[in-house]
Amino acid sequence: MIEIPELTRAATNTMRAAVVTEFGAPLHVEELDLPVPGFGEALVKLATSGICHTDLHAAHGDWPVRPQLPFIPGHEGCGTVVALGDGVTDLAIGDVVGNAWLWCACGSCEYCRTGWETLCESQRNGGYTVNGSFGSYMLVNAAYAARIPDGVDLLEVAPILCAGVTVYKGLKVTDTRPGQWVAISGIGGLGHIAVQYARAMGLRVVAIDVDESKLELATRLGAEVAVDARTSEVVAEVQKLTGGVHGVLVTAVHPQAFGQAIGLARRGGTIVFNGLPPGEFPAPIFDIVLKGLTIRGSIVGTRQDMVEALDFYARGLILPTVTSACLDDVNEVFGRLERGQIDGRVVIDYREAPRTPCQSKHVD
Ligand code: NAD
Ligand code: ZN
Ligand code: ZN
Repeated sequence: MIEIPELTRAATNTMRAAVVTEFGAPLHVEELDLPVPGFGEALVKLATSGICHTDLHAAHGDWPVRPQLPFIPGHEGCGTVVALGDGVTDLAIGDVVGNAWLWCACGSCEYCRTGWETLCESQRNGGYTVNGSFGSYMLVNAAYAARIPDGVDLLEVAPILCAGVTVYKGLKVTDTRPGQWVAISGIGGLGHIAVQYARAMGLRVVAIDVDESKLELATRLGAEVAVDARTSEVVAEVQKLTGGVHGVLVTAVHPQAFGQAIGLARRGGTIVFNGLPPGEFPAPIFDIVLKGLTIRGSIVGTRQDMVEALDFYARGLILPTVTSACLDDVNEVFGRLERGQIDGRVVIDYREAPRTPCQSKHVD
């Protein structure tokens, strides 16, 4: 029998969650039974959850491998452990933890053994193959849950759990060094945090987006060059100003940005793709070969990358721009995300009573 002290006090065994019941249709906010933690798992009462563009791809069924319906999205959730399943030795009730896209991996395959657990073929993904953080409670795997540093703002730290760790790892695998140029294409939830990690890692930043307010945000955050991909000859301009960048990180949600990224790099440069819009892009074989370019994909980060990414945040080097919302706003937030109308990240705050209509507030 599992003890759930807080729930006993609250005399409830249900939770509210936003559920995807049909791809491309609005999410339903429903009352559901609480999940029961299995072996090695913990039940977490959520305080906050970021809303990532990946959640929108998931709800639309955008990718070749689709989640099984119905499911609860969300993989930037932070909250308090309220119950433990059997076999959990390294988490205690009251600990503050987060879920992540890498919800768990097998721990024993070649990828897991060699520091590439993000490539494990048996991994499970938060908010995709395991129910996620768009609900007032969620399950985490104790061995893979992120440990949230003491005393941090839970609204602000939430985006580090996906956006932060993803771009931090993505920047690492551009193989750039302090003093070199990196272009960040797409200054949304991921990209505005990428500008800050790049600066903290000693890189010089070129920001590219199709929205003026995103470019203004990037400049405030320390980008030396900001280019509007709609109005300028992006490649020529970046080449003229920097001589070609050493690294490119693409977080944009349009395939056009992927082909364009190849032109931004100088000889020997590395182009890293984080963004996951459905689609394809043309790649110039001659340029890639003659310039000796490296093009690689990068998916979230390992548990160690997560520890490091959270540490940058805890030391005050990263300040996500966050706007709070309530769970019932999720469809409206998805609409704005789709139209590119969100600066930074929207984060669900479960600590506030549901309001209708919800008054969002800025926290930056
Ligand atoms: P977002 O909607 O917050 O930001 C996307 C940004 O791209 C917006 O600022 C938008 O204006 C910009 N954009 C659109 N078209 C562009 C273009 N042609 N050129 C430049 N910029 C353009 O989304 P997000 O939450 O930051 O996620 C971005 C992408 O990254 C999504 O596809 C998401 O699924 C993916 N993602 C991947 C990983 C990973 O591990 N690889 C992790 C998280 C998210
Ligand atoms: Zn594995
Ligand atoms: Zn994400």
